[in-house]
Amino acid sequence: MKAHEYQARALLAEAGVPVPSSDVVDTVDEAVAAYGRIDGKVVVKAQVFAGGRGKAGFVKLCDSADAVRDAAQFMLGNRMVSPQTGPAGIAVKKLLIAAAVDIESEYYVAVVLDRAKRKPVVMVSREGGVEIEEVARTNPGAIVKRWLHPHLGLIDFQCAKLASALGFTDKGQLEAAQKVIRGLVKVFNDYDCSLAEINPLVRTPDGEILAIDAKMNFDDNALFRHKRLQEMFDPTEENPMELRAKEHDLSYIALDGNIGCLVNGAGLAMSTMDIIKLHGGEPANFLDVGGSVTAEGAIEAFRIILSDDKVKGVLVNIFGGIAKCDTIAEALIAAAKEIGFKIPVVVRLEGTNVERARELLEAAAIPQLVPASDLTDAAEKVCKEVA
Ligand code: ADP
Ligand code: MG
Repeated sequence: MKAHEYQARALLAEAGVPVPSSDVVDTVDEAVAAYGRIDGKVVVKAQVFAGGRGKAGFVKLCDSADAVRDAAQFMLGNRMVSPQTGPAGIAVKKLLIAAAVDIESEYYVAVVLDRAKRKPVVMVSREGGVEIEEVARTNPGAIVKRWLHPHLGLIDFQCAKLASALGFTDKGQLEAAQKVIRGLVKVFNDYDCSLAEINPLVRTPDGEILAIDAKMNFDDNALFRHKRLQEMFDPTEENPMELRAKEHDLSYIALDGNIGCLVNGAGLAMSTMDIIKLHGGEPANFLDVGGSVTAEGAIEAFRIILSDDKVKGVLVNIFGGIAKCDTIAEALIAAAKEIGFKIPVVVRLEGTNVERARELLEAAAIPQLVPASDLTDAAEKVCKEVA
């Protein structure tokens, strides 16, 4: 799960990180009213689950009510396209109106799970701001890292080292930077984050240290123990098909291709996508219906796959272990009756009760069903069907 910037700011503020005051709004009029409540200049920021807003024109400094009105109208009326959104962009439904700050320098501070080292890593850089991805690519040495001990967490000397790596020499600023790093690590640990990032952390000409943008991702498997995060969940920002799948305990990820995949087991789903690509096709989704899939689960999976207009063919690849092949065959037949297959559905079944499953499918005589003898045969057939 991801959090909006305004939600991430709230968590940071609670952990003792200084964050400028702000308001969240969803209309132009409310944006103007929020401007009236803040002293001085403001920054209007689109609240969406994608970065690169600054460069896309969705972070705007405003020093009058008219400028706020224009910025709010633009952001709520246009889709934001950035390198992180894909060409279709995303709609903006909420805006943050935050007090603007004078920026002397911008820094980067983040905690992320380092899967290779199996520990969280704190990363800091003096070259924070909108170019951090470029810095990581071209000048990785400008990012200083310290790994957290899984039980001891952030040790004081590490924190001091990271703060001085940011280039602070003034005692007060060094302490302020350490407080920010500690606060960010606390949020990361307390809320089971996979990412907690402040970019930029800024120093003002008065020597104040402030977080003015934040991003957080949380481990979905830990959400059950965080009521606070459950309340933050914003379904309007999620892919509707992924949401529907989640409600039915299906693991579904939408992809860009045109071959829908219905598979049981994550490993089998991965190899199904691989073999489709090997034969020149492109999967439209990753869908794991689970090892113990039921008929209802499989029918719902079909509904989800077939509601995607991009899908021109489906590959059903089921290994009957806990799930029985004949159960899947029955679900296929029921789905064909209920939804009606307008596109070819290539079926490869193997495992428990596969003979019975084949008999059922044959007897049902569904014209769009294409039986496959093995996985290679299935991949070849489905790629040919959508070519
Ligand atoms: P994104 O990372 O999506 O581009 P940011 O919130 O980091 O969005 O904003 C981009 C840039 O806009 C910042 O690096 C900073 O230079 C400027 N900016 C953002 N918030 C403020 C603010 N409160 N006051 C002044 N400038 C800001
Ligand atoms: Mg940013």
